[in-house]
Amino acid sequence: MSYEHEKLTEEKVFKDPVHRYIHVRDRVIWDVIGTREFQRLRRIRQLGTTYLVFHGAEHSRFQHSLGVYEIVRRIIDSGFGGRPEWNEDERLVALCAALLHDLGHGPFSHAFEKVFDLDHEKFTQAILLGDTEVNAVLSRVSPEFPQRVADVVGKTYKDKLVISLISSQIDADRMDYLQRDAYYTGVQYGHFDMERILRVMRPAEEQVVIKSSGMHAVEDYIMSRYQMYWQVYFHPVSRSAEVILIKILHRAKALYKDGYRFQQEPGPFSSFFDKTITLEDYISLDEGVLFTYFQLWMKEKDPILSDLCRRFINRKLFQYAEFDPAKEYRKIGQLDALFKEAGIDPEYYLVTDSSSDLPYDFYRPGEENERVPIYLQLPNGELSELSRSSDIVDAISGKRRTDHKIYFPEDILEAGQEDNPLYKEILQLVRG
Ligand code: ZN
Repeated sequence: MSYEHEKLTEEKVFKDPVHRYIHVRDRVIWDVIGTREFQRLRRIRQLGTTYLVFHGAEHSRFQHSLGVYEIVRRIIDSGFGGRPEWNEDERLVALCAALLHDLGHGPFSHAFEKVFDLDHEKFTQAILLGDTEVNAVLSRVSPEFPQRVADVVGKTYKDKLVISLISSQIDADRMDYLQRDAYYTGVQYGHFDMERILRVMRPAEEQVVIKSSGMHAVEDYIMSRYQMYWQVYFHPVSRSAEVILIKILHRAKALYKDGYRFQQEPGPFSSFFDKTITLEDYISLDEGVLFTYFQLWMKEKDPILSDLCRRFINRKLFQYAEFDPAKEYRKIGQLDALFKEAGIDPEYYLVTDSSSDLPYDFYRPGEENERVPIYLQLPNGELSELSRSSDIVDAISGKRRTDHKIYFPEDILEAGQEDNPLYKEILQLVRG
């Protein structure tokens, strides 16, 4: 039997708190899971700094990736199989893409990508197509198979239905992370009836569509996504930790560029500072490496680097205040000047940050991020865009919500008020 169709003699199962079990019967999937690049995802948290707010949020990208695989497997094996719109030859490529869609994520990837101007999607492609164990497994299916998987993940694959399973406004990726993140953070939002949604998903020519009787389950899913974004993903305290993380990396990079003599040389970071990163450098990095260096840098002589590392490790985060850039456009300039006068470097201690989300969108041609809307399949077979049928979805669709905050070291400013009258002035201004 060809490698592509080879089955394990006995099914393997992973116990999973969200889906109960993850089932693996395909030899290829089992082999991909065993590669070093996939195993690396165990050492990267799914939610980055969120564990500093919701202490349960210690789950890894490894478990999320298995979860997305399991959802796609169930959609295909129990929903799509045998329907004329579904091409069974796409099964393995869809399963591999589901399993590997986040393969290129690094430790605290948002912060890391921002500082070093990287893109995890490019690294996903590079790992799939480069000289890696994952590539060796996928190439055994056929020489062009790694490229097919990379095209699905990169959203350029010829079969749009396969792409929509993993990346659309209702896809296996979102359905897994919403439930998984809700489970591990312990919040009550984020839950919806996935079983019901899986039962009403239908393959169509270009994308997955939803049988109209399942509309209310989809509404629930969209609302849960909306709640999770504002209650968990954009939580200002976890943003504060991310701000500090970004500043640590900035500071270490600036010191390195200035020829500062580190007591603990930033070995694994140097190629990132120099922009000479190899795939191997990237794969070697995980959260453990970052934490080790942050611990060591707490003892560095540079007061800014050591202070920021202490803040991150000991969770002495920055305070935040609301900020409206439209009305308070002069505030940041004034604060910047006051910080300098008071001897606190605003480059590292005064940060503005904004979060923005669009919960659901209908199709707007020509927009920067054209989104494929969710379609309901009516009893007569016609398709209808979701917000036309659902008043709830209509009320929030196309509405972007943005919120801006200022982060600052309230502890320093509070403690030094007696000695430095400027600190008081800063606090009054920042709190508005
Ligand atoms: Zn994902």
